[in-house]
Amino acid sequence: MPEVQTLPLEAGSPYELRVHLGDSVPERSVREALATGDMGFIHSYTTGSVVDGPGVRVVAWTTGCMWRCQYCHNPDTWTMSNGLPVSVTRAAEELGKYRQSLKVMSGGFTLNGGEPLMQHRFAAKLMAAVKRMGIHTAMETNGYLGDRLSDAEIDTIDLVMLGLKTWDPARHRALTGMDVAPTLAFARRLAARRRPIWLRFVLVPGLTDDMDDLARTAAFAAKLGSVERVEVLPFHQMGRYKWERLGLAYTLENVKPPSAELTEQAREVLRKAGLKAD
Ligand code: SF4
Repeated sequence: MPEVQTLPLEAGSPYELRVHLGDSVPERSVREALATGDMGFIHSYTTGSVVDGPGVRVVAWTTGCMWRCQYCHNPDTWTMSNGLPVSVTRAAEELGKYRQSLKVMSGGFTLNGGEPLMQHRFAAKLMAAVKRMGIHTAMETNGYLGDRLSDAEIDTIDLVMLGLKTWDPARHRALTGMDVAPTLAFARRLAARRRPIWLRFVLVPGLTDDMDDLARTAAFAAKLGSVERVEVLPFHQMGRYKWERLGLAYTLENVKPPSAELTEQAREVLRKAGLKAD
């Protein structure tokens, strides 16, 4: 296995197209890394983020995702080998340097993706190591592989930011290519353990703006009892160039970001169900 990289924590934004960073890692080593979690694959880092959890945060964006959301703005994170190989020890050491400043800024560390649970052993080890340092931990996930985490591992995540598109199976499959049931099951499991959840809902005109469907999704979310907040994220076209550069068929080229009125209408639907929405 090649020498793992140091953490370039100042390295760019998830909107930078990044490919082939892990190509030199042999397939066998990738499999070993995924099985043990001793090494992970990271697309990029963000420092000073104020939109990936409470306070000011360091965010690591992992590679690997099994979903194919039509509006994904980071399709270059789908492939594991587009990530930079990093050992969990090295990652934790680097994050430790930010401990005091993150505390002062009421922030923490967020593991994002891609889908972090595609590297569930790495994610679990890194979350536990960061938590042991007294840093607030958050993970943004689509929840599909949530059953790969033990209860004890779930408890090392202070906040789960769950991407919920719809409760409706047919709509969900059309939007993401995958079944919604595992995500809903993970949401129920988190709620049963009283783990704080923030839901992230991407509002896409023509795709996710059916207010009746959103009301039913909101009713499901409100019943969970541990959803602290729902973030309504207006669709944007910032990831479009990646689809084009990667030679992927992008179907949303004519879709405009939602109007302020539509975004507010969606938030109102969520609030009506008793959720805090912004
Ligand atoms: S779950 Fe996230 S990373 Fe995966 S395809 Fe959907 S938006 Fe992209």
